[in-house]
Amino acid sequence: MAGPQRTRAALVALFAAQVLLTAVPASGAGAGLSEREPVYTDEWWSEYHATADVYDLIKAVAAANPDIVSLSSIGSTHESRQLLVAKVSDNVGADEEDEPDVLVIAGTHAREWTTYHAAAYLLNYLTGHYRRTPEGALLVSPPGVLDNDSFASWIVDNREVYIFAMVNPDGIEYAHTTDNLWRKNREPNPGVVGLACTGTDINRNFDWHWGELQGDSHVACADDYAGPLRADGYAGIVGWRPGESLPGAFSTAEARALRDFELAHDFKTALSLHSYSGLVLYPWGHTGDPSPDDADFVAMADVMANQTGYTPQQGYDLYKTAGVWDDWTYGVAGAYAFTIEMGHEFQPPAEEILMQAQLVLAPELYLAEVADDLHLLAPVVEVLAEPSREVDANAEARVTAKVDAFNGVDGGKVSLVYSTDDGATWAERPMAAGADGTTHTGDLPALRAGGQALYFVRATDNEGITRSGPKAAPYQAFEVHAKNGLLDQLGTLGLLAVLGGAGLAGALLYLRFGRARITAALPRLPRLPRLPALPGKGRRAAPTAAAPSASPEGGDFESALDSRPGLRRFLDESR
Ligand SMILES: [Zn+2]
Repeated sequence: MAGPQRTRAALVALFAAQVLLTAVPASGAGAGLSEREPVYTDEWWSEYHATADVYDLIKAVAAANPDIVSLSSIGSTHESRQLLVAKVSDNVGADEEDEPDVLVIAGTHAREWTTYHAAAYLLNYLTGHYRRTPEGALLVSPPGVLDNDSFASWIVDNREVYIFAMVNPDGIEYAHTTDNLWRKNREPNPGVVGLACTGTDINRNFDWHWGELQGDSHVACADDYAGPLRADGYAGIVGWRPGESLPGAFSTAEARALRDFELAHDFKTALSLHSYSGLVLYPWGHTGDPSPDDADFVAMADVMANQTGYTPQQGYDLYKTAGVWDDWTYGVAGAYAFTIEMGHEFQPPAEEILMQAQLVLAPELYLAEVADDLHLLAPVVEVLAEPSREVDANAEARVTAKVDAFNGVDGGKVSLVYSTDDGATWAERPMAAGADGTTHTGDLPALRAGGQALYFVRATDNEGITRSGPKAAPYQAFEVHAKNGLLDQLGTLGLLAVLGGAGLAGALLYLRFGRARITAALPRLPRLPRLPALPGKGRRAAPTAAAPSASPEGGDFESALDSRPGLRRFLDESR
């Protein structure tokens, strides 16, 4: 190919490249990445909402985050409202065996309005602060910054969180329209008494020591009515199964829906939000005896009490409760079940709703975190010695971490996990255990000059529990840069060669064309054609911009040459 064509081809390529750079926004891993927006702003929590608003919120959040939220109806109420459960997790359509199930329920008692606002807040928070785009790119922040978002993102990736915000939508609606101190559901009761009194206390309707004498819970007009004690035996009790302790448990559609839902899953931890009293309660409620897992319950309740300022205690110590959700969920469904009694009023001034919803966020995330660690023995991983943020190019950099693994950790189960593409992909290298068994060292791969890496340390103990340092990795990770500079890349001789070559080329050009002609000959890139003005975009779009073809800086290469006689001459002469 002759010289001019080659030159021209190169210029056309440059021209095209410039168009591309202009047309495509800055791309690359991490560029332009931001957190998703919460669908609802905090403003929503500045007033009380009844059932329709909350259902709208749940559906809108699910619709905006189809990759991490799925909705299912687990039953319907006496007044035909769906019982809606939102699942929040990555790969939300799959049941991921390695991700423990976590349950948060609220709105069991109709007058306890802060509770379901808090559950709605959790749904909006987990989704709106999830730091991964639908395409999978994630936002990494440095460790050490107080950063709940990265931990919430870790929860979404590593747990299957089920939020059942409105256990008792019929009752809640009635409390908003008719009687704001209503507590029970709205199912009619049988018999003569039932004509006068409606509703059952869903939280006395579970089949764990159901109906043991307590207060007036067998009087249909009572607020804590546990369900019908049928003199005519078990016949006609919907949902009762042979072998269950007493008839009357699970007489409510809501308790039955929860029963079937919980038995179909494998919840490890579960939380029910109630109000009020400022308490963190754990089983048992029906007896003052400690449960078999009392030490674990006490330890977890202490953490949540510290997070909220509430008081931890066994349910029974408040007062005896039989047939309650937490006893059944622990005793039958096998989950570590807690109740938090929020705040100090059923319906505090509306400006307190947001604060209370945010207050229980910490225990909600905590119960999700420990769902694979019920005895609180998960490894604690701490990066002790990290390379300085700037390391030498082309040399490995050593990372030292301390791993306290109470269940033990075998060799090869502690890894240095790193990414050299801003978190798009991650690789790992095993770390070696030191003589003390807790100190582990590993080397980051050598980086080219100017390169950078994100990294964290991950340990899996002998019970299969995995934790990282920083805890929210990979949403939090350490970062190193390799020193930059031409010398680093080329070495001194290479640099001299480049400088020498440039000088020689300049001298030759000078001899060939002379000083004046070089100035004329240095081609300036043709400018891009102007885009035609968009119609209908306000006053500024109205002036009649010249059509691109009429522009002196017209769009194609030939017309660009027409406006550059010097360039055309240069090309002709080089032929
Ligand atoms: Zn309650």
